[in-house]
Amino acid sequence: MSTRAIRGATTISENSKTAVMEGTVALLKDMIENNRLDIDDIISIIFTVTKDINAAFPAAAARQIGIVNAGLLDFPQFEVADSLKMCIRALMFVESELPQKEMKHSYLNGARTLRADLIKEEKHIAVALDGPAGSGKSTIAKMVAKELGFTYIDTGAMYRSVAFYCISRDIDYNDETEVLRALNDIRLSIVNTKRKQVYLLNNTDVSHLIRSPGVSAGASAVATYKGVRDRLVAMQRELAGKANVIMDGRDIGTNVLPDAQIKIYMDGAVEERAKRRFEELELRGITTTYEHVLEDIKQRDHNDSNRRYNPLRKAEDAVLLDTTMLSIEEVKDFIIDKIKDYMEE
Ligand code: C5P
Repeated sequence: MSTRAIRGATTISENSKTAVMEGTVALLKDMIENNRLDIDDIISIIFTVTKDINAAFPAAAARQIGIVNAGLLDFPQFEVADSLKMCIRALMFVESELPQKEMKHSYLNGARTLRADLIKEEKHIAVALDGPAGSGKSTIAKMVAKELGFTYIDTGAMYRSVAFYCISRDIDYNDETEVLRALNDIRLSIVNTKRKQVYLLNNTDVSHLIRSPGVSAGASAVATYKGVRDRLVAMQRELAGKANVIMDGRDIGTNVLPDAQIKIYMDGAVEERAKRRFEELELRGITTTYEHVLEDIKQRDHNDSNRRYNPLRKAEDAVLLDTTMLSIEEVKDFIIDKIKDYMEE
């Protein structure tokens, strides 16, 4: 491992604390994900801001997303004629096994305009993985992403985060108007580090809190509202445009990414799916019973398949994979072979 340097820059739309925090979080997230870093790989970050920003320190945003052991420093930038306005820059020092020339620098929100050499269109690969709860999508998607270096996007976590927000604020998730109002106060983002994925709800890590059975039921309810789906689907499409992704959900092949190059629909007997989900919850230390999980899954299958907007369906061009009798390895190998076949075409 050697010390490497990664550059990053972004612009923000106003000099407010929220804009500084959100802009910095987005920039750091991009730098971490593009270089497949872990938070602990970061040694230090030097931030500079243009003179028109003084509402908050970018370093505070770094601390907020868990960069607590690295040395952080904020500086004002030199004033240079014609330089970008409202610009935050970061120089991040990291431990990496890769050579310096393979470090990927990040330029967001127009900060790239200073680097014409970096403006180019890239075509990314998208794998759409749909199916009912407990079909094994997330386990498989994580493994495939790790093996192929793709970004995993768990769209269920987004619906769960909206439900969690409502539950934690005593907002009735069965009341569509209330949920849509709450949506305006919700900022979601995902940070992909080398070892794990962190889901941020208003910049707070909710990765574990959104996994409880109570939140599952809430997610299934808020996922029926068009306003919620439109907002989250837009985010999902934006994420898919930035990297090679494997995205799991209910409507990825049919609605979110209808042009995905690879589409898989994973299904399985409801009892087997409930058994797997029950074992997964037990491993996470969440107390429940098999019967309860079975009921929850049946209810969610019903909601997800019968809702009006983007119901759970197999896309016509998706490959159907019944995982009831298959091992995790078999399913993973099948999907990896499909992706490799496509990439070698
Ligand atoms: O996949 P997961 O079980 O975490 O999803 C939680 C809930 O979110 C699902 O039961 C479903 O109602 C909703 N969802 C959805 N569309 C997606 C992903 C999840 O409606 N693309």
